[in-house]
Amino acid sequence: MTVTLDNVSRVFGDGSDAVVAVDGIDLTIADGEFVTLVGPSGCGKTTTLRCVSGLDTPTGGTITFGNRDVTDLPPQQRDIALLFQDIALYPHMTVRDNMAYGLKIAGESKEQRYAKVDEAAELLQITDQLDKSPASLSGGQQQRVALGRSLVRDPTVFLFDEPMSDLDAKLKRELRPIVEQVTERIGCPVLYVTHDQEEAMTLSDRVAVMNDGELEQVGPPKEVYDDPASEFVAGFIGQPTAQFFDGEVVAADGGRVTVAVGDHQYELSRPTGELDPYVGRSVRIGIRPQYIEVTEGGDGIQGEHLLDEPLGDSTHSFFDTPFGEITVVTHPDFVGGKNTYGLALDPEHVMVFDAETGEQVG
Ligand code: ATP
Repeated sequence: MTVTLDNVSRVFGDGSDAVVAVDGIDLTIADGEFVTLVGPSGCGKTTTLRCVSGLDTPTGGTITFGNRDVTDLPPQQRDIALLFQDIALYPHMTVRDNMAYGLKIAGESKEQRYAKVDEAAELLQITDQLDKSPASLSGGQQQRVALGRSLVRDPTVFLFDEPMSDLDAKLKRELRPIVEQVTERIGCPVLYVTHDQEEAMTLSDRVAVMNDGELEQVGPPKEVYDDPASEFVAGFIGQPTAQFFDGEVVAADGGRVTVAVGDHQYELSRPTGELDPYVGRSVRIGIRPQYIEVTEGGDGIQGEHLLDEPLGDSTHSFFDTPFGEITVVTHPDFVGGKNTYGLALDPEHVMVFDAETGEQVG
């Protein structure tokens, strides 16, 4: 079964106070596919998910599950599982009964319910917690119980709204493979909303990057990272994100393109015909921070060292340049010491964006 959003919009209020939270988005999530919605705060992720769940209704467009139009159906008629950051477990029931509750409501026998719960608990590694009360569990264990409750119900669509945002980094890393196993086991379409890029990049089959109510790019994590459709996507995905300079296309001769950032020219190794119309025009030059080489007294854009953030396996170093502040991923032992450095861009990894539309053009 496929979930399809066709030109879905959600406008709050009307007249001059209207807020367009979701602005005509198209998205399909195939059976067994894990799609993550990412984007800055207020871009419309939660509203989109709420429309898919039935907790909210679009003001335009349609949502279908398979060939069933669910746009105006309430949540209880959609057969969805919905997992939030706040987990509402019943405090007076054991973990086992919490997990089995949905099945009880559905009229399954105690034997059937407990058999399903036992199987789910094994996958979730919480078998030894089944007789406990939820209050005695840690946040990570409670999330496993909530996952288990959904797993035993075998929903048609699985929706997550920032389920791990309260957990620390270590717990998140532990829970991620469990989320993967559970969603794989259920095998239904999954829509997952998160702020956390690492979560989005590791869990998803496809990432949908949202900006101001619209989808900027939908693609596999690696594609969105390596080949961002726009300056917005390049500036949102990645830790640190891509860095940008005002530049110019100097020549585009038979696909061999030379771009300039100030006095520095870079011949791009990737032939691209798309840049022919940009010769002599201002563009935005983007590059991932690990592809900027820092050399003391060296060639390249001059950057005055500001600060280092050592992270153990690498260092994030900040430089003040004529093009603004630039972040570079440097060697773990790098210590800048307030000197001036040359920042050289690796032409192999230079990206070119239209200065007006922000679209990647080379
Ligand atoms: P966050 O990451 O902060 O949760 P988000 O990307 O999930 O943000 P939404 O919560 O979907 O964004 O909100 C999108 C826009 O719609 C925001 O401008 C928000 O203020 C507005 N909005 C959301 N719900 C309502 C509402 N019930 N009434 C009016 N405006 C709303």
